[in-house]
Amino acid sequence: MKGRKDRLIKEYIHDPYFTKAKYPDPSVCQKCGVVFQDGIFKWVDRIPENAKQMVCPACRRIEDRYEGGIVVLEGEFLQKHKDEIKNLIKNVSDEETAYRPLERIISLEDEGDRIVITTTYEHLARRIGEAVQKAYKGKLNMQYPEGTKYIRVHWERQV
Ligand SMILES: [Zn+2]
Repeated sequence: MKGRKDRLIKEYIHDPYFTKAKYPDPSVCQKCGVVFQDGIFKWVDRIPENAKQMVCPACRRIEDRYEGGIVVLEGEFLQKHKDEIKNLIKNVSDEETAYRPLERIISLEDEGDRIVITTTYEHLARRIGEAVQKAYKGKLNMQYPEGTKYIRVHWERQV
């Protein structure tokens, strides 16, 4: 869909965690090892020798529990397929983080009758919702509250 990518890029530009810090280039996150180089965050095999130390926006958000998205999964079907669905969430998250290093899961809470996941940015939350629906059908609802860089994803399936 047109516009999504633009929105994602804008999101980073306006992200207070991105703009406030003014990351030195190159620099390396002392928590997760992600490298900021040539203006972008990326995973590298070898950290540049002259890299300064920093804490990346994703790790700051995780520390502050400042989420960019929330996913709520519920319904009877979830009860019966919880491990399977949790595995799917982990796979989607690993894949996403490999390509977009700042997209991470902040927390995944198993509350018994539902699973609540928070993510650093909206993109991963949406990907999780879409992947769960693609695999298991059910009802998916995604809301971007107007004027915020945030997404609420809700999925449920009975029986
Ligand atoms: Zn980090």
